Amino acid sequence: MADRFIFTRYRTDCYHCKKNADQIIRAVPYQARVACENCGATRVFIPRIEDVSKEGEFIKIGCYDLWKLVETAECRNCHVTGPHDLTIGCRNFTVRCRNCGFTHFYKFDLEYIAKDELET
Ligand SMILES: [Zn+2]
Ligand SMILES: [Zn+2]
Repeated sequence: MADRFIFTRYRTDCYHCKKNADQIIRAVPYQARVACENCGATRVFIPRIEDVSKEGEFIKIGCYDLWKLVETAECRNCHVTGPHDLTIGCRNFTVRCRNCGFTHFYKFDLEYIAKDELET
């Protein structure tokens, strides 16, 4: 799958069902999403183009602590496969290449509960 960029999971307390469950994290260049394996709560992030150099706005704590993960991926910029830093917050999602520093910024777009869709 050519478009696959980041695919990982992170076990934590779900903000929605409050259970300790795997949160499935997927990112491709045009979208990133985090889905709870237990309840299906899904948050969708879209690329943000605004100036993100103002750190204050970025660090603002949302509904839960920032998740900081490291995942191996192929950089879209330098094409080196290596560690990328993932930072996922309530309103932000970033993926940064450790080799060249190229960073994808996403902002929160919408939220839905996948399981409800299935059951109705
Ligand atoms: Zn959940
Ligand atoms: Zn890179």
